[in-house]
Amino acid sequence: MDKFMEMATKMAQMSPEERKQMMMKNRSMCVCGKCPTYTSCMKDNGELLFCSTGKSACAVETKGCICPTCPVTNMMGLTHAYYCAKGTEKELRGM
Ligand code: SF4
Ligand code: SF4
Repeated sequence: MDKFMEMATKMAQMSPEERKQMMMKNRSMCVCGKCPTYTSCMKDNGELLFCSTGKSACAVETKGCICPTCPVTNMMGLTHAYYCAKGTEKELRGM
Protein backbone atom coordinates (compact mmCIF):
# COMPACT_ATOMS: atom_id res chain seq x y z
CA MET A 1 0.00 0.00 0.00
CA ASP A 2 1.47 3.41 -0.90
CA LYS A 3 1.52 6.38 1.47
CA PHE A 4 -1.61 8.01 0.05
CA MET A 5 -3.64 4.80 0.49
CA GLU A 6 -2.34 4.48 4.07
CA MET A 7 -3.36 8.09 4.81
CA ALA A 8 -6.77 7.62 3.13
CA THR A 9 -7.38 4.51 5.26
CA LYS A 10 -6.30 6.37 8.39
CA MET A 11 -8.61 9.31 7.61
CA ALA A 12 -11.53 6.97 6.93
CA GLN A 13 -11.10 5.63 10.49
CA MET A 14 -11.12 9.12 12.07
CA SER A 15 -14.15 10.72 13.69
CA PRO A 16 -15.79 13.55 11.68
CA GLU A 17 -14.23 16.06 14.11
CA GLU A 18 -10.72 14.57 13.73
CA ARG A 19 -11.13 14.57 9.95
CA LYS A 20 -12.21 18.23 10.02
CA GLN A 21 -9.16 19.13 12.13
CA MET A 22 -6.88 17.30 9.69
CA MET A 23 -8.43 19.13 6.70
CA MET A 24 -8.00 22.48 8.46
CA LYS A 25 -4.36 21.67 9.21
CA ASN A 26 -3.72 20.69 5.58
CA ARG A 27 -5.52 23.81 4.35
CA SER A 28 -3.23 25.96 6.50
CA MET A 29 -0.19 24.31 4.85
CA CYS A 30 -1.55 24.62 1.26
CA VAL A 31 0.73 26.78 -0.92
CA CYS A 32 -1.78 27.30 -3.79
CA GLY A 33 -2.02 31.00 -2.91
CA LYS A 34 1.60 31.44 -4.08
CA CYS A 35 1.09 29.57 -7.37
CA PRO A 36 1.07 31.34 -10.78
CA THR A 37 -2.11 29.43 -11.70
CA TYR A 38 -3.98 30.69 -8.61
CA THR A 39 -6.45 33.45 -9.51
CA SER A 40 -8.22 36.29 -7.72
CA CYS A 41 -11.49 34.39 -8.40
CA MET A 42 -10.12 31.41 -6.40
CA LYS A 43 -9.02 33.77 -3.65
CA ASP A 44 -12.39 35.52 -3.52
CA ASN A 45 -14.10 32.11 -3.25
CA GLY A 46 -11.72 31.08 -0.44
CA GLU A 47 -10.61 28.10 -2.51
CA LEU A 48 -7.55 26.10 -1.38
CA LEU A 49 -6.66 22.41 -0.87
CA PHE A 50 -7.86 21.39 -4.35
CA CYS A 51 -6.10 18.01 -3.91
CA SER A 52 -8.86 17.14 -1.38
CA THR A 53 -11.77 19.34 -2.40
CA GLY A 54 -11.50 19.03 -6.18
CA LYS A 55 -11.64 21.31 -9.19
CA SER A 56 -11.94 25.05 -8.81
CA ALA A 57 -15.29 26.69 -9.57
CA CYS A 58 -13.28 29.38 -11.42
CA ALA A 59 -11.86 29.28 -14.94
CA VAL A 60 -8.35 27.80 -14.76
CA GLU A 61 -5.54 28.75 -17.10
CA THR A 62 -2.59 26.52 -16.23
CA LYS A 63 0.64 28.49 -15.71
CA GLY A 64 2.60 26.01 -13.60
CA CYS A 65 1.75 24.02 -10.47
CA ILE A 66 3.71 24.22 -7.22
CA CYS A 67 1.91 21.29 -5.57
CA PRO A 68 5.11 19.17 -5.70
CA THR A 69 6.75 21.73 -3.33
CA CYS A 70 3.81 21.72 -0.89
CA PRO A 71 4.26 20.00 2.50
CA VAL A 72 0.82 18.37 2.02
CA THR A 73 2.16 16.45 -1.00
CA ASN A 74 4.79 14.76 1.14
CA MET A 75 2.58 14.31 4.19
CA MET A 76 -0.34 12.79 2.27
CA GLY A 77 1.71 10.90 -0.32
CA LEU A 78 0.16 12.77 -3.26
CA THR A 79 1.37 11.75 -6.72
CA HIS A 80 -0.40 14.20 -9.06
CA ALA A 81 -0.62 17.99 -9.66
CA TYR A 82 -2.96 20.65 -11.13
CA TYR A 83 -5.75 19.55 -8.80
CA CYS A 84 -7.53 22.90 -9.33
CA ALA A 85 -7.95 21.98 -13.00
CA LYS A 86 -8.13 18.17 -12.85
CA GLY A 87 -9.79 17.18 -9.57
CA THR A 88 -8.76 15.44 -6.36
CA GLU A 89 -5.93 12.93 -5.88
CA LYS A 90 -8.64 10.27 -5.37
CA GLU A 91 -10.39 11.20 -8.61
CA LEU A 92 -7.10 11.19 -10.50
CA ARG A 93 -6.46 7.67 -9.14
CA GLY A 94 -9.90 6.60 -10.35
CA MET A 95 -11.12 5.99 -6.79
S1 SF4 B 1 -0.83 19.71 -2.80
FE1 SF4 B 1 -1.48 21.49 -4.00
S2 SF4 B 1 -3.69 21.61 -3.74
FE2 SF4 B 1 -2.91 20.24 -2.17
S3 SF4 B 1 -2.62 21.52 -0.40
FE3 SF4 B 1 -0.67 21.50 -1.47
S4 SF4 B 1 -0.67 23.23 -2.86
FE4 SF4 B 1 -2.78 22.93 -2.16
S1 SF4 C 1 -3.54 22.97 -7.48
FE1 SF4 C 1 -1.47 23.29 -8.28
S2 SF4 C 1 -1.87 24.53 -10.15
FE2 SF4 C 1 -3.69 24.68 -8.90
S3 SF4 C 1 -3.39 26.55 -7.68
FE3 SF4 C 1 -2.70 24.80 -6.45
S4 SF4 C 1 -0.49 24.69 -6.82
FE4 SF4 C 1 -1.39 25.92 -8.45
